[in-house]
Amino acid sequence: AMAAPGQNLAVVVHRAGDLRLENHPIPEPGPNEVLLRMHSVGICGSDVHYWQHGRIGDFVVKDPMVLGHEASGTVVKVGSGVTHLKPGDRVAIEPGVPREMDEFCKTGRYNLSPTIFFCATPPDNGNLCRYYKHSASYCYKLPDNVTFEEGALIEPLSVGIHACKRGGVTLGSKVFVSGSGPIGLVNVLVAKMMGAAAVVITDISASRLQKAKEVGADFTIQVKNETPQEVASKVESLLGCMPEITVECTGVQACIQAGIYATRSGGTLVLVGLGPEMVTVPIVNAAVREVDIRGIFRYCNTWPVAIALLASKRINVKPLVTHRFPLEKALEAFETTKRGEGIKVMLKCDPSDHNP
Ligand SMILES: [Zn+2]
Repeated sequence: AMAAPGQNLAVVVHRAGDLRLENHPIPEPGPNEVLLRMHSVGICGSDVHYWQHGRIGDFVVKDPMVLGHEASGTVVKVGSGVTHLKPGDRVAIEPGVPREMDEFCKTGRYNLSPTIFFCATPPDNGNLCRYYKHSASYCYKLPDNVTFEEGALIEPLSVGIHACKRGGVTLGSKVFVSGSGPIGLVNVLVAKMMGAAAVVITDISASRLQKAKEVGADFTIQVKNETPQEVASKVESLLGCMPEITVECTGVQACIQAGIYATRSGGTLVLVGLGPEMVTVPIVNAAVREVDIRGIFRYCNTWPVAIALLASKRINVKPLVTHRFPLEKALEAFETTKRGEGIKVMLKCDPSDHNP
């Protein structure tokens, strides 16, 4: 049953430090859109960052913005031009929707399109609410054996898929993942699935490293106050060789430095974590050893792949979810995420169904 008109509870950031639960109108889907009753939405580090700082780089919260971009829900209404979805379909939402068919779109790298719509990146609203409309082409039907929470986790999982592809992970790869937060963990999952022979992961937190073991990391290193070179040599001794691929998921200067020193000559360092704009790194060391440094910006073309992997049980993202809160307790959920407790905090947006 639909809620009363206007009964669309939403988590809205107004400016730095000002997060509110508000009632918004229920939107009307356009011809190529669907209206969704939201089910599960994960809280991302970027959501917390917009709440705490009101901006990420050049993206500044100027007007109130609904947060949330790791999401799944049920179709309740379809626009007149929508043919592949119908009311009742369970879907995972890809939050990035290109607005024009530019050169990036034409070459399949639509994540690089400068005018792309992206949930909860100012000024675009996210989907941490009860009812949300989205481009139907970027809603992907979930098979019956894939849960809503798995559907929501396709978003962070996509970062791992894109990063491991950009790094060239393949059969027998030795991989170093730097940082054991949600993004480090999805990179462990994906690297192992893509055939990595061994994955070593670092973090300062013992509990996060324990979770990394659970999802398949072969070796863990708890970093205390080692130099970047010392971290690199620990990575090498655990793997028995230097890794061909390093996936850096912290954005911390010392970790990027360790990432360069650790990567085998001719290998690839993928920068996933983003920190300050200006960072000092041993660039000559990378240059003379032909270590390629590659960036990633979100992902593209990953949802169908991820759904196939989840449906075939090739990958298990369920251990990532450590906390669940009903949407009404969103502020508590954000405080929990800010404190760095657990791994992934899920908000349950459908009052009639709090199942995974
Ligand atoms: Zn995210």
